[in-house]
Amino acid sequence: MSQQIQAVRGMNDLLPEQTGLWRHVERVLRAVFEGHGYREVRLPLVEKTELFRRSIGEVTDIVEKEMYSFEDLNKESLSLRPEGTAGCVRAGIEHGFLHNQTPRLWYLGAMFRHERPQKGRYRQFHQAGVETYGMTGPDIDAELIAMSAALWRSLGVTGLQLQINSLGTVAARHAYREKLVEYFKQYETQLDEDSRRRLLTNPLRILDSKNPDLKSLIEGAPRLLEHLDEESRTHFDRLKNLLAACGVEFVVNERLVRGLDYYTKTVFEWVTDQLGAQGTVCAGGRYDGLVEQLGGKATPAVGFALGMERLLALLEVQGSQSLEDTPHVYLILVGESAERAGLSLAATLRGQIPGLRLLMNCGGGSFKAQFKRADKSGAEIALVLGDEELEKGAVGVKFLRADRPQQQQPVEQVAALLREAVSNGS
Ligand code: ATP
Ligand code: MG
Repeated sequence: MSQQIQAVRGMNDLLPEQTGLWRHVERVLRAVFEGHGYREVRLPLVEKTELFRRSIGEVTDIVEKEMYSFEDLNKESLSLRPEGTAGCVRAGIEHGFLHNQTPRLWYLGAMFRHERPQKGRYRQFHQAGVETYGMTGPDIDAELIAMSAALWRSLGVTGLQLQINSLGTVAARHAYREKLVEYFKQYETQLDEDSRRRLLTNPLRILDSKNPDLKSLIEGAPRLLEHLDEESRTHFDRLKNLLAACGVEFVVNERLVRGLDYYTKTVFEWVTDQLGAQGTVCAGGRYDGLVEQLGGKATPAVGFALGMERLLALLEVQGSQSLEDTPHVYLILVGESAERAGLSLAATLRGQIPGLRLLMNCGGGSFKAQFKRADKSGAEIALVLGDEELEKGAVGVKFLRADRPQQQQPVEQVAALLREAVSNGS
């Protein structure tokens, strides 16, 4: 036997037992997004590496060490997308749908990061994201956050806490950054290797450190909210008022800085303690500088992305059931004539009964063998077509899970029976 090939580490197969719940979530997402006037975009999985370098930032974890980059046959450096925002801005500039417009967009798809795989952290994962452009907020910030709250409600997820913060304008952040460097420089020897490196490259990220040894040092650091510019402070206050007005509860987390470079003003995360270490289910914020940074006309922007695997894990922890996708009916066909007639009978029934899940026997077999398969399929009803039924112009009906007599009926009657089975909700 030749050697077995396994999936790439950190890249998961989604099997039929799981896809039902995924489809349910996808349907709810779509309905909620569309209900808020967001329109779907589907963008490439691969972009020029340069796009991510210029947007996410050279000194972020993603660009430094997590990207799946490769040279294609033209010797051009390409990367699998690690997130969706950069590609969305790229497309917006390219197709001219950002400038002087106010698009609200959403997407859903696979993202790729070469991280250490663990629960809630994979190398291929899926994000549902929304991005809006051309609106300075904070009303749109609030709408978008309230929309995420509506998602949890529609899905019946509980136990998510909304944390918000403001990172200020780029100018305010630069001024704060100097204060922060000054502070941490005094304690450089106490910093871990990662933080020491970040002191030079991206000091705000030190605040985000998960190292417990640094906790008290970080507690004592100058506070970002105290160094906010007037404009950002007003923006943040108005956002808080708007959220309160629509009944979305939040806490201010001054340590919330987000991993990506391009955020300004509003940042937020939805976190839970029900998933262990990887507790952030959804994260987003405002990124007013990015469009210009990528060569477009200055355009304000705000968006979020939620991690599908983490959301699904939370739903499972909370007992959500997968959508039903077992067949209603198993069609048993014995004999060559029945096999010939079976294909069109199946097509007729599927055509007449919306939502019918009909599984047709393939590969022949005796009545007994086919009844066994019918039983195993989980179907409620077995339809039987053999020489006898064909001669009578009828179809046999056997209820596999209910104590009802076996019968032979003309096709129209069978269709009525199946309609009943489908509308009974299974
Ligand atoms: P984290 O701090 O957990 O690494 P992040 O700041 O890198 O998250 P974002 O880039 O903001 O995450 O992505 C938004 C969301 O996508 C996260 O909140 C999370 O739910 C999900 N996500 C990010 N990376 C992964 C991953 N490797 N595997 C699964 N989900 C992920
Ligand atoms: Mg990360």
